Amino acid sequence: MKRNLLLMMLIASMTAMANVPLKIVRGEQDTVYRAKHNIVAVTEPGNIAKIEGEQVKVYKTGAFGKQVVLKPGENVIEIVVENGKKTARKKLQVFLSAAPASKPQSAELVAEKLAELQYFETTDGAYLQYGDGGDRLGGSKMGYLSPGIVLKAVESKGDLYKVELSQNRYAYISNEYLLPTSRAVKTLNTGSWSISNQGKYDRVSISLPDRLPYRSWTQLDPTTIYVEIFGAMNNSNWITQRGDLGMIEYVDWRQTDSDVLCAVIKLKSAYSWGYSVSYQDNNLVIDVKHTPGLKLNGLKVGLDAGHGGEYPGAKSAIGLTEKEINLDMVMRLKGLLEAEGAQVVLTRDDDSDISMSDRKKVFADAGVDIAISIHNNSGGSPFAEMGTSTYYKHISNRALASCMLGRLLELGVRNFGMTGNFNFSHNAPTEYPNVLLEVLFMSSLPEEELLADPEFRQSVAEKALLGLKDYLSKVAASEESADVR
Ligand SMILES: [Zn+2]
Repeated sequence: MKRNLLLMMLIASMTAMANVPLKIVRGEQDTVYRAKHNIVAVTEPGNIAKIEGEQVKVYKTGAFGKQVVLKPGENVIEIVVENGKKTARKKLQVFLSAAPASKPQSAELVAEKLAELQYFETTDGAYLQYGDGGDRLGGSKMGYLSPGIVLKAVESKGDLYKVELSQNRYAYISNEYLLPTSRAVKTLNTGSWSISNQGKYDRVSISLPDRLPYRSWTQLDPTTIYVEIFGAMNNSNWITQRGDLGMIEYVDWRQTDSDVLCAVIKLKSAYSWGYSVSYQDNNLVIDVKHTPGLKLNGLKVGLDAGHGGEYPGAKSAIGLTEKEINLDMVMRLKGLLEAEGAQVVLTRDDDSDISMSDRKKVFADAGVDIAISIHNNSGGSPFAEMGTSTYYKHISNRALASCMLGRLLELGVRNFGMTGNFNFSHNAPTEYPNVLLEVLFMSSLPEEELLADPEFRQSVAEKALLGLKDYLSKVAASEESADVR
């Protein structure tokens, strides 16, 4: 009899457990090295959740959690969820250990002098970086280079070559973009320049006897594009402007080192709409885009939904993926833009996996006027509101990032900040203004609750639309005041 009762109780408690879902999402490790330990779990909305006996908030998504402070050694953390008389219970056993002894430094990557100097030619996709450092987004980019440019390697370090750009300037480049060549680089004299209006852009063409490496940047106040050509000595006695120009006010040059020539391209407008630098034969060609119509009607807008396919991006406690949230926001923004007459170019419109270089190619081939990448963030405390943020690389895109952030903050979310010189792949192109939005944090429970709400996602799209309109108005106002002067 006693035995039967026990069995019945056991069955009853198992049934109860089966009826109240409880899934641990974070905090189930055996061994940790930090006393502050985050626990995130998911049940059904409306249930009561307790961690270590203390009731915690259950979000509308069903997610809940708490930061517990572990004592050294073994810890047992009890997690209970209740729905009326039904209960589910889990005990986590977490061992707080002293920090592991740091691993002996793996054989330091000692820069080895190459036995003899070597020459390499750049291939498609090559880019220079300033130093040999890096983070998960790679080293700080100096800029992309056309194929067929000869570089002299002076050192190798891991996958990188240190290359000599001119007698005093160096950069680093990944060996995946280099092929050995028997051609050697020399310091070269520049030939004539021509400047012409090609309809949608102005073109500066500088003739050279061979392809030389270069780097470019935009400076503000007044807005000016600089292109340094390494290994070049000025011998250009003809800088000819052919006809009226749309965007360029004038072109000038400086010899900034005995073997570095800098092209100076002053713009008429305070706002640059992008430029490209490439080679046509041995002519260095700089195409500077004209200001497009400053209305959404007719504007070609590139929208990029981060991640996709096999790459879900960040995952929330209840299992929402960043790729689906990003795409949902992009599709909503697309609808709003098209309703205003804009032409929208998407890098993906389904759950497909597309590489960064293919995404950029989509925008470049379509000739977008402006581009917005949408991602959602991850990290920090799961229990805090982390906030919204925008990102740019080139200073000329700061105003766009600022307009976007201003509108996103109207959602009543925290300000996570605006980041410049950001090394994200989609912030690198100089061909069109671009910005990255990291709307909210997938990993934050209060923000997950917002992201899970379709109405909130619609509001995000509406704010992004307003941010873009603000930017166009800002440019238009600046053009008008320039006309008055
Ligand atoms: Zn992402």
